[in-house]
Amino acid sequence: MICIPVTARDEATIARDMAESARLADLVELRMDYAPGADLKRLLENRPCPVIVTNRPKREGGAYDGLEDERLALLQQAVDLGADYVDVELDSVDRIRRHGRTRLIVSHHDFQETPDDIGHIHSEIVRSGADVAKVACTARDIRDNLRMFDLLRGERPTIALCMGELGVISRILGRKFGSFLTYASLGEGKESAPGQLTAAELAGLYRYREIGPATAVYGVVANPVAHSMSPLILNAAFEEAGVDAVYVPFKVEGDVVEFVNAFRKIDVKGYSVTIPHKQAVIAAMDDLDEIVKKVGALNTVVNRSGRLFGTNTDVAGAIRALKEAVETISSQSGRGARSCAPTLAGKRVLLLGAGGAARALAFGLCMRGAKLIIANRTYERGRRLAEEIGCESLRLSEVGSCEADILINTTSVGMHPNVDDTPVPRSALQKGMVVFDAVYNPPETRLLREAREADCLTVSGITWFVNQAAAQFELWTGQPAPRATMERVLMKRLAGHE
Ligand code: NAP
Repeated sequence: MICIPVTARDEATIARDMAESARLADLVELRMDYAPGADLKRLLENRPCPVIVTNRPKREGGAYDGLEDERLALLQQAVDLGADYVDVELDSVDRIRRHGRTRLIVSHHDFQETPDDIGHIHSEIVRSGADVAKVACTARDIRDNLRMFDLLRGERPTIALCMGELGVISRILGRKFGSFLTYASLGEGKESAPGQLTAAELAGLYRYREIGPATAVYGVVANPVAHSMSPLILNAAFEEAGVDAVYVPFKVEGDVVEFVNAFRKIDVKGYSVTIPHKQAVIAAMDDLDEIVKKVGALNTVVNRSGRLFGTNTDVAGAIRALKEAVETISSQSGRGARSCAPTLAGKRVLLLGAGGAARALAFGLCMRGAKLIIANRTYERGRRLAEEIGCESLRLSEVGSCEADILINTTSVGMHPNVDDTPVPRSALQKGMVVFDAVYNPPETRLLREAREADCLTVSGITWFVNQAAAQFELWTGQPAPRATMERVLMKRLAGHE
């Protein structure tokens, strides 16, 4: 079930928010601590769906700071009026007289941490006679979520979740492990606790209502992770293909190897891995693709019956995009384009950058026989990569005079919000060249716009991003990826329509 807490302060807004929440959720939590003057009897008589009545004191993270007797009197009134659920804190449960059909949620909140004795606290709640046990603690490490999932395995209906950005996964995956409900906000800015997703996001993006015990878990391992587009396009892909799976953001601040090993416990079926964990995560793998050994970085983990296999779809994704572009140029060669062989072998490729993306591309292109020239802002770094690959290197200031069939930008120059920047002068863009920008936000960078104007064939970072994600989908599911859907949702988000 999805429950939306209503935290409005006046009765008219509460009534309006309850009505709106009832359309999105199964339950509404009436947070009476935010609205001490509201008439509980009238609100309950007119409730549009089942409600939880809560009157949370400041000591447990709520807004109530009046007399304790009056706080508890309101909760007792809720029981007397037949509210569907009343949420009472563990330390106050003895003061509530139970009768009628009201069910008691007995709760404990910790806004500092997930304490070591959380299992003991949960047992005390169960012993208190709770109809539903609730613990909400702050995640200090993403592994704290695993302790919450353990609590959900017991007999007593339980809500166990971690608050904060590190706890977002508990709000989504709790359903797989049997959580009685999850809380979601009516909209951004209306959260009653840190880390709450909106009800629309939970039900739409994460398809919360379709999650069950058999749902396969996938996710992106990153830090930061909040702006990752991967949940958007991979959840859309799973939905389109009818795969019982959910893809979540794993924010890993600490040691990624410890994270991966701890999460073996819940049998995550696959990971996308991105900045800053692409190299360090290699140590957590049971098996590695040859390409990972060459590039020294992975972006994909596949769980093969418990053994974790690390691979790199960045390489194949970028090469696929380039090969398609070269084929297009080749098919146009009769019409005056500069190159005619539909292969990367022998092509002169000017590669800008020497970071992670450049490394993946450099090895991929070198293996396909391209003639590479690497130019990087920090010349020494570019030279070292060129030496490792066995190719030429240049200073970034020298690229204007460099002849090439293909120019690839793997620097972050031109990325939102610095959309007026470009890594090369217009003079470097010659008619008939393929110009490929790894940057995908915006979809058409200044570099690509100027390349289009110079009659180059342009390839957007969108194509690379979709290709690498589509390859992950195919490795995980064995099914063809719904590329058109993946690209559509990404473009829509980048255009700001979602
Ligand atoms: P990275 O490892 O941090 O490398 C960043 C590169 O950009 C370095 O070569 C750096 O040069 C250069 N750079 C940064 N700021 C610069 C500036 N102001 N002027 C000139 N050069 C500058 O990052 P990465 O993982 O390689 O990613 C690079 C870009 O590729 C990002 O925009 C990322 O989003 C994009 N990317 C896209 C995809 C996709 O699927 N489309 C996949 C991977 C990456 P120094 O060595 O001098 O610092």
